[in-house]
Amino acid sequence: MAIRKSPTVRCASTSPSVTSSAASWPSREGGGPARPTDQRHNKKQDAMGRKQQGNVGFIGLGTMGREMARNLLEGGFTVHVFDVVPAAIDALVALGAAAAGSPADAAREADIVITMLPDTPQVEDVVLGPAGLLANPPRGRLVVDMSTISPVAVQKMAATLRAAGIQLLDAPVSGGPVGAKNATLSIMVGGEADAFSRARPFFEAMGTTIHHVGASGAGQAVKLCNQLICGINIQAICEALALGRALGVELGQLRQVLLGGSAASWMLDKLGPAMIEGDDSAGFRIDLMLKDLRLVQEQALALSVPLPGTALVTSQYLDARAHGEGSNGNQALFRVYDRMVNQPRSSSNA
Ligand code: NAD
Repeated sequence: MAIRKSPTVRCASTSPSVTSSAASWPSREGGGPARPTDQRHNKKQDAMGRKQQGNVGFIGLGTMGREMARNLLEGGFTVHVFDVVPAAIDALVALGAAAAGSPADAAREADIVITMLPDTPQVEDVVLGPAGLLANPPRGRLVVDMSTISPVAVQKMAATLRAAGIQLLDAPVSGGPVGAKNATLSIMVGGEADAFSRARPFFEAMGTTIHHVGASGAGQAVKLCNQLICGINIQAICEALALGRALGVELGQLRQVLLGGSAASWMLDKLGPAMIEGDDSAGFRIDLMLKDLRLVQEQALALSVPLPGTALVTSQYLDARAHGEGSNGNQALFRVYDRMVNQPRSSSNA
């Protein structure tokens, strides 16, 4: 089912009722500059300096989830954590979380269960599987998936849960591991407005730009647009660096100058140094970027929307994966350009 065909999925720009209710929330709605890291803990308390109350089940403690769960803990919430990797649970328990032995165990006392998992099948397993959240709902009957997954799958899951009296929000994030660590994530939320209101204190412990963008699936729709821009932007930076390198320009200086002009971008700012220095380590893995570009193209095909730029950069990421680089960070797309122009990193002019 294509997302446009569902009358329940709209982005904020086409959903005045949701936009107007969102506009009535003054604090940080509409986004603003990210606050400095050292102010991180201030927002976790109310005007009287009291910490937040609430019980969270958190499932999926990888690159993003472990930082988000830690911020919930630091915000004063009780957090029950589960992951299929026991060491990931242990790391959060050392910080004060309670260990859960299963999704059901994480949900048992929870007002809200948050999932932060790799892809659609893992979320479906945790939500719909025999030992999952449909069969073992949280006490507060609210599930929030913050992974990046299929918007169509989200709509189906939301309908299934709704029939059982459980609300599901899709709330994917942008901002990477640094945003997760500093609690400065951008969070784009689809689902029912009352569920969004209930989840908002938890979102505020993890992010700064928090938007309710429409009905179920709308958060994922916005996230896919985000990922399309990220992928093509990284490609544009690779091309500029490859050309600058061939022209003999010093790449660090090239980046600095570009950041002061109209070519500036988050990717150039945050990932440019790693690209120039040849640091391919992952924050956001190429395998996950390929997952997101697949989701983008599934929707585009279903809706007959040509996305030639997305198709091209997807092929380049597939080239990276074919060379065994799928677990590198997405900035390592630059290796594909190293190969195409036969310029090793040692000639980066850095
Ligand atoms: P990750 O692979 O580092 O973490 C996923 C975690 O889920 C792992 O700890 C894994 O053990 C656990 N897991 C897998 N299957 C499970 C199951 N059935 N039950 C319980 N735990 C399970 O991934 P990540 O980088 O943290 O990304 C998580 C999601 O957030 C993805 O959808 C990704 O696309 C999205 N995202 C990632 C970033 C980033 O920069 N890494 C940024 C924004 C959004």
